[in-house]
Amino acid sequence: MKHLARQLPAIHELQKHQRFEEIMGAYHLTSQQLTAMLKHVVASVREQLLAGDDEISLAPGNIDGELFHQLEAYARKEASVKLQHVINGTGTVLHTNLGRARLSGQAQKKVIEAASSYTNLEYQLHSGKRGSRHDLIEAALREVTGAEAAIVVNNNAAAVYFVLSALARGKEVIVSRGELVEIGGSFRVSSIMEESGAVLKEVGTTNKTHLYDYEQAITAETALLMKVHTSNFKMIGFTEAVPAKELKPLADANNLPLFEDLGSGVLYDFKQKGIGSEPTVREAIAQGADLVSFSGDKLLGGPQAGIIAGKKKWIDRLKKHQLARVLRVDKMTLAALEATLAHYRDEEEALTEIPTIRAVLLTQEEVFERIERFQIALDPAWKTDVTESFSQVGGGTMPEVQLPTYVLLLTHPIWSANELQRELRNGSPAVISRIVNEQVALDFRTIEENEQSALHQRLQECIKERSVK
Ligand SMILES: *Cc1c(COP(=O)(O)O)cnc(C)c1O
Repeated sequence: MKHLARQLPAIHELQKHQRFEEIMGAYHLTSQQLTAMLKHVVASVREQLLAGDDEISLAPGNIDGELFHQLEAYARKEASVKLQHVINGTGTVLHTNLGRARLSGQAQKKVIEAASSYTNLEYQLHSGKRGSRHDLIEAALREVTGAEAAIVVNNNAAAVYFVLSALARGKEVIVSRGELVEIGGSFRVSSIMEESGAVLKEVGTTNKTHLYDYEQAITAETALLMKVHTSNFKMIGFTEAVPAKELKPLADANNLPLFEDLGSGVLYDFKQKGIGSEPTVREAIAQGADLVSFSGDKLLGGPQAGIIAGKKKWIDRLKKHQLARVLRVDKMTLAALEATLAHYRDEEEALTEIPTIRAVLLTQEEVFERIERFQIALDPAWKTDVTESFSQVGGGTMPEVQLPTYVLLLTHPIWSANELQRELRNGSPAVISRIVNEQVALDFRTIEENEQSALHQRLQECIKERSVK
């Protein structure tokens, strides 16, 4: 191997190669950029050869071919746009690290339309006068939530901050100690409260809070009663919380708004399919909350957004507040949200069109059928197995729900499970997998039919490249 190190072609020779031109064109690189990459690749191959690394297979007749193969892989990695398509083989439907909800076909279309043309974002077509972006979406939100009024902001964390800041700055907000949650590390009720300038008044204990706890805490300084949906954990045993329905008369008697942070905010009732016990937004509003807030990209299945819905009196105050401008969403978000909400007019349509709902409701048998179809075209060099497992809803929602699924277990002819997992992650599109029984596992709940050919290709690359690793 060491003698090969001396035979490596000079950089200026390689630059004349047709492949050099081709790679430059394919990845939109300048000659300088690609030369820098080429130097890096040649140096690294030389080092490996000198170290006697026999992992590297360099046929004396095909040194150029191998160098350009490595150069292309390097260029692809470096030149790729950083935010990219990832195949989610984890089975976690709302994977926060992988961007949560995927949009429906109609929502995608509307985003492209809004992005590529002028829109009536703040323009009333009937009068020819200036309009409000908030009005565009409000009717649709009223329809699906049953609320009097609604406003959309950047995300649910912003929504909570907005409500607290606009309605309770410098005043007290009463929250049960059992609901002082932290979600995903970056959202803590107590920290958002502090940022907003509202003063947190904790009542009750971790496991039990009674109506009289709230009652005794109300003073002239109180601005708001707040409930927080404990999205990502479940308390069991000797526990008690006061439901919104029971808090409502107390709030009314003291002329205080009751605000509930619902977290996920479901518009489709998953309970009817035996999945979870999440109240719908409509139910939460019917229970008496004056204001609720929830995410657009959790179980609603739309774009990242925070929706505040409730009594017109309070929403109007929010609309007039300076923060409405600070936290406002752009036209692409509104386009995606409007199209997603439209699916909910017809429950059947919501089930078939919204990818998040479809993925949560996918039965174990349907996942199995997806795997079976996928396996037909799989290279026989793979050793495979199919086993039962569970998928998660994710995104901090329905932590107690385990969705029965099947996973495809893959064993590479040479690589360990960790090596294969790393290799799958580092190609394009990246494939994110789990390890089950020390094998790479792909949960087809979150792998769409239209991703299967790309996945086949990635697996084929792994078989072809096995000697190179
Ligand atoms: C997820 C969640 C949030 C944060 O929502 P984002 O849309 O991620 O900002 C806030 N509160 C609760 C209860 C949540 O579950």
